[in-house]
Amino acid sequence: MPRGAPLFTRWYDGHSPRAHAVLVRLDGDVLVIEPRESTIGVQRHPIAGVRWPERRTHGQRQTDLPDGGLLQHADAAEWDAWWAEQGLDESFVVGWQQSWRGVLVALLATVLVLAATWTWGVPWASARIAQHMPEAIEQRIGQESLAQLERLFLAPSQLPAAQQAALQARWQAMVQRAHPAGDAPAHTLSFRASVRLGPNALALPGGQIVVTDQLVVLLQDRPEVLMGVIGHELGHVRHRDGMDMLVRSTFISALVGVVFGDMGGFVAAVPAALLTQAYSRDAERRADLRAAELLHANGVSPAVMTTLFERLRARQPRSGEGEEQELLPIAIGSHPADAERVRFFQGWSPEVR
Ligand SMILES: [Zn+2]
Repeated sequence: MPRGAPLFTRWYDGHSPRAHAVLVRLDGDVLVIEPRESTIGVQRHPIAGVRWPERRTHGQRQTDLPDGGLLQHADAAEWDAWWAEQGLDESFVVGWQQSWRGVLVALLATVLVLAATWTWGVPWASARIAQHMPEAIEQRIGQESLAQLERLFLAPSQLPAAQQAALQARWQAMVQRAHPAGDAPAHTLSFRASVRLGPNALALPGGQIVVTDQLVVLLQDRPEVLMGVIGHELGHVRHRDGMDMLVRSTFISALVGVVFGDMGGFVAAVPAALLTQAYSRDAERRADLRAAELLHANGVSPAVMTTLFERLRARQPRSGEGEEQELLPIAIGSHPADAERVRFFQGWSPEVR
């Protein structure tokens, strides 16, 4: 039977429950429905708009028409035989293939939504939670973090009191010049000896900035570079990166804490997070930008920061040589110079902010 041979079947017009006896045939890319009753006109539907019945199933064959009408054929085998003879591409067959495609698309969409939630939603929510963390909690987290670092890494500073005072005064003067309106973030600067952390600096939640004696010594002849490092840490304080990082890495505990007001789980999760988590690259870039701005406001070229990276790199033991230096991911010594950071400080100017 060539394409075009008609099949006798039943048609519903989509408005009335009454079935009409019709002949259906394909005319090119058009499905033609010819009612036996002469009072009803011939129906023509482009086959692309026709939803053909599933095959591989038992029972009658139902074809949905674009105008809401449908064809019903009780004898599946007869319909399938007619359909097969029309020479239509299999892609016209909707049904189980399409419904499976639908399931796969839905599954894929779900996976993408979950991935997007994890990639963007959690950081976004973490930043919001960090911004709304009560001041008292942040102070407590900061104090406990410092106590933990003191147990593990830090000893009282060995720097002469006069040297510490001179550095504090220099730092305060630079902050005032960079923030003449007095809008610098609240913070405290202190010095600690740390053989294990080596030359290093870090900022903790609550605004505590800690600089190691070893870093002061490393930059003894370049105090402006040391000020740039502290400026970087002040950038972390300003953007609350410490709190943000802790919330992000203990997300569920922090969320429970903020929503239900029980901070126990969050506080308990902080020590492990503090030792293992790093700030995001964006947070580091932002802190570098703040350092550059602070130096610039004080008439110092941000390019001086190159010295920090050169000296840190010169100190790093090559692999297999001696003891590995202790790493604390949030501390500046743990993320020293990559080419991008060096280029940033060398190329910085007030115009390219
Ligand atoms: Zn940093």
